[in-house]
Amino acid sequence: MSVIISIKDIEFKAGSKVFIRCDFNTPMDEFGNITDDRRIRSAIPTIKYVLDQGCSVILASHLGRPKNGFEDKFSLLPVAKRLSRLLDREIIFASDVIGNDAKTKAANLKHGEVMMLENLRFEKGETKDDENLASELAKFSDYYVNDAFGVCHRAHASVHAITKLYDNEHKAAGFLLIKEIEFAQNLIKRPARPFVAVTGGSKVSGKLQALTNLLPRVDKLIIGGGMAFTFLKAMGENIGNSLLEEELLEEAANILKKGRELGVKIYLPVDVVAAQTFSADSAIKYVSTQEIPNGWMGLDIGPASVRLFREVLSDAQTIWWNGPMGVFEMDKFSKGSMKMSHAIAESFATTVVGGGDTADVVERAGDADEITFISTGGGASLELIEGKELPGVKVLLKEEE
Ligand code: AMP
Repeated sequence: MSVIISIKDIEFKAGSKVFIRCDFNTPMDEFGNITDDRRIRSAIPTIKYVLDQGCSVILASHLGRPKNGFEDKFSLLPVAKRLSRLLDREIIFASDVIGNDAKTKAANLKHGEVMMLENLRFEKGETKDDENLASELAKFSDYYVNDAFGVCHRAHASVHAITKLYDNEHKAAGFLLIKEIEFAQNLIKRPARPFVAVTGGSKVSGKLQALTNLLPRVDKLIIGGGMAFTFLKAMGENIGNSLLEEELLEEAANILKKGRELGVKIYLPVDVVAAQTFSADSAIKYVSTQEIPNGWMGLDIGPASVRLFREVLSDAQTIWWNGPMGVFEMDKFSKGSMKMSHAIAESFATTVVGGGDTADVVERAGDADEITFISTGGGASLELIEGKELPGVKVLLKEEE
């Protein structure tokens, strides 16, 4: 059986240099201020552990999607400053990735010091899994640790190609990465029952694979958000101008049928907040899903659906939530998502939230502390739930003796 190599399995030699691939892809406002530093805080246990082994640390991450080398707005400098405050120690910042500044600073790094490279994606080779870039990065350190769960579903140079340059005694997964994988695996393999999956968001297409993989594993499935309308339409409802993926109607009908065969209870909204236009100042109406007026669109679940879903969740022992119940970015259509967040946070179940938007909802609702686990990686967490093997994780597996 193959298992992931844990940072705890590594015997770090004091005085060594350790490269830690983090996911510091943090949201920033138009002034460059970090608006949510969850990802930076999540990396701290691994950084501290490595420092406590008597090693020095070289941190690397991507930020956003720079196209053509250095761009000020994608610089990791604000992240270095925030981390410096959180760790209460100096972070030596390199103004490039594998250039002279990074090389000199890495070479002069002393025991117990922490340095950060500039945004990995300023190097074009990063997203191309380029072996030259990987080998330049590997020259900086004796050990490699990956704690960047959010990018493990991509074969990029700093999470994939680079691992070939270290043997199993010198590479490992960090604490955050291990925690993410364990939560997803426990959810799929041994959930406490009843297990309820709550899905939402805009599109069926983005979650189809996850729904298909989850269906035989869950006891109940709640479908809200924009994706619910393709299911409602497949059941013959008139959904007005609500979001519809016409080409997936048959697939949606199949999921409903499969659910019936498996004995999985599937719940859809019974009422919606309908709007005339997709805008914050549109006229709105609370209507049952059977009475959406022609030309109107459902932009949030209504109060009766909230009550129904709350009831469905009341005996849950495990809840997995991915996707908002409505267009939560506009206040008028955020109530359904907020109330679901409260209901999930208040339940006695093990609660796991995945996806950037859903984490944002939970944060805005003030419920983040009451959720058992909030995944830091949207795409990666969805792929784990879909049952896929992540390229960045596969390369850190070893055969258990
Ligand atoms: P996703 O990335 O698929 O999880 O979708 C998240 C997005 O779905 C959010 O930006 C929401 O605004 C959007 N969304 C949720 N409910 C609806 C709806 N009823 N109609 C249109 N968009 C929606």
